[in-house]
Amino acid sequence: MNPQRRPLVVGNWKMHGNRPANTELLAAVAAARPFGADVAVCVPFVYLTETAAQLAGTDIRWGAQDVSAHAQGAYTGEVSAAMLAECGCRYVLVGHSERRQHHGEADELVAAKAQAALGKGVTPIVCVGETLEQRDAGQTEAVVKRQLAAVIRELAHCAAEMVVAYEPVWAIGTGRTATPEQAQAVHAVLRSQLQAASGHGERMRILYGGSVKADNAAALFAQPDIDGGLIGGASLKAADFITICRAAR
Ligand code: PEP
Repeated sequence: MNPQRRPLVVGNWKMHGNRPANTELLAAVAAARPFGADVAVCVPFVYLTETAAQLAGTDIRWGAQDVSAHAQGAYTGEVSAAMLAECGCRYVLVGHSERRQHHGEADELVAAKAQAALGKGVTPIVCVGETLEQRDAGQTEAVVKRQLAAVIRELAHCAAEMVVAYEPVWAIGTGRTATPEQAQAVHAVLRSQLQAASGHGERMRILYGGSVKADNAAALFAQPDIDGGLIGGASLKAADFITICRAAR
């Protein structure tokens, strides 16, 4: 954590939740304010309007987990950036490894989605990360740099407006977390890349994601280039998510 950058903690609910559980979770998180960090939840599309209504008047933000690269048209099942903006979304995840893995999203599509979001004033949280095979083959740095370069190229002079999330694929939902030192090493690489490309790397936020829990968040967030977290499983448990939000300061 670096005092130049306000920390950010984002919950990724993935495809979990239902109305009563969501209401209870959001009420608990809202009641735990104030936090020393920006806090947001990325919820399934269908819950955006209710989430917006429940969080109105708080400083907790909300967002989506995906966005179409297209502005509008015959794209059945897709949701546009304009629609997210209309729902008051501050953020949208793009390039989450589950989208890359299960939906074949390539770097260029991820970049186009980030561009579409920014064009409507929704901040893309661009996820990058290597698989276990890539890490074992010594390719971590090359992989994350390639993934990020595609987005930097597309966003050009607006690149500094994105948030980046480093999420090693082998740590997502597995209970296996990168050590603070492993995560810091990759964050430092990403920050140098952002600095070289935009000149604003020092003020940009880079989140860590991958089995962040209540008991390991503080050690991760203590690293100089880790500016908060993208939290999957633990964001569904109010007490755990609140502990993680409090660890970011
Ligand atoms: C995620 O979904 O982005 C994530 C990091 O999940 P988990 O915290 O469950 O590993």
